[in-house]
Amino acid sequence: MSGIFGVLNRSNERADISKTAYYGIFSLQHRGQESAGIAVNNDGTFMVHKSMGMVADIFDDITLTTLKGDAAIAHTRGGEETGTDAIQPILIKSSVGNIALCCDSVILNGNSIREDLKNNGAIFQTNTDSEIILSLFSRNRITSDSCEEALIKTMKEIRGVYSMILMTSEKIIGVRDPYGLRPLSLGKKGDQWMLSSENCSFDAIDAEYIRDLEPGEVISISKNEVKSVFYDENKSSEDRVKDGKVCIFEYVYVARPDSVIDGTSIFESRYRTGMALAKEHPCDCDLVIGAPDSGNAAALGFADGLGVPFGMGLLKNRYVGRTFIKSTQEQRELAVRMKFAVLKPQIEGKRIAIVDDSLVRGTTTKHIIRFLKDNGAKEVHVRLASPEVKFPCCYGVNASKGTDLPATRMTVEQIGEMIGADSLGYISLGSLREALAGIHCGTCSACFDGNYIAGNLED
Ligand code: SF4
Ligand code: MG
Repeated sequence: MSGIFGVLNRSNERADISKTAYYGIFSLQHRGQESAGIAVNNDGTFMVHKSMGMVADIFDDITLTTLKGDAAIAHTRGGEETGTDAIQPILIKSSVGNIALCCDSVILNGNSIREDLKNNGAIFQTNTDSEIILSLFSRNRITSDSCEEALIKTMKEIRGVYSMILMTSEKIIGVRDPYGLRPLSLGKKGDQWMLSSENCSFDAIDAEYIRDLEPGEVISISKNEVKSVFYDENKSSEDRVKDGKVCIFEYVYVARPDSVIDGTSIFESRYRTGMALAKEHPCDCDLVIGAPDSGNAAALGFADGLGVPFGMGLLKNRYVGRTFIKSTQEQRELAVRMKFAVLKPQIEGKRIAIVDDSLVRGTTTKHIIRFLKDNGAKEVHVRLASPEVKFPCCYGVNASKGTDLPATRMTVEQIGEMIGADSLGYISLGSLREALAGIHCGTCSACFDGNYIAGNLED
């Protein structure tokens, strides 16, 4: 998973483009904490600065001042592609000039495309999807009249889910895959036009959120114009949006609560999920708390739905990275103790209901319950703002890939017992969908129902 951001200044007056890009990805840090980078276009000369680490650690004033230009694209990455070679944006010099790319993608037929391109003389330096996309794009660009046409050809060859931003010497181009599985939105501040994974970054820089890209939309922003072409030109705009399948986990867990994706507010949909949970799985409790931080909005809805106070029971230490060694039981427990602190006076002697966004493996939840009970909670009831994860996500979103999923072999009662909860309740998929009131498009919910909208991996 990644956060992507792009900006192009349409005015002839110089703007602090790299700062805009910096604040853009700074606000998308929740989408990935492994590495980050910014590439700028200064009259056709491209410069990039990228590194492993968090956005705030990678850039300082001096670096940002040297990154001058009229356009920039930026990326913050999480997930599995590791190593410095995989850090984006990726830059290449192609037969048609400089190109930079950042993408939030999973290409399902990537291996066969790579083999095919290799057999035709292409050379690959990394194992990444972005390199496959760039390689395909540069090949298609030779036989196309425009970048947009080459991109559409590329989209027809790849099978997968992606949002990406490409930068050429004249423009930045945003692409949302034909399913619209990953979000991408358009914004503007004065003459600076922007693309971002989530509109929370527009708010952060006081820019205006214009709209989400349609599934299959390719939007080009240059000095002279802003125009779109579509993967499926024969479809009406209405149908493209209606047939879209945005990842339902964006609403459950991934996106920032202050974002709006495809017509519905993340915070409000989480709050409504909590309300629905209170109807589906009420419980006798004295205090409702959220699993920090992603369970908070649903916990608030759950508390309001039950008419029970919502309180703070757990605090999260934001400064714990992923560097913990967690090979033994003791180390795993210590990691949870370092990550969370219990507010003992809040929970002592009380029946607690804790609302979390999801339960994939259950290991952290199990430790949290123990921790709450060790600190005096009388009962701990767990409520989950998403259904049972029964199928692995092959689109790179949740951590279920290749894991042993408890929900495939245990009943809800058995899972409750395994994690040490006094009771356990999952929201139903129907109620979760209802909680997304106002959404313009459909959703992918394959990890709950096994309906893989873009197919599965090729092997
Ligand atoms: Fe999102 Fe689940 Fe679909 Fe993966 S399988 S894209 S997590 S809804
Ligand atoms: Mg969690």
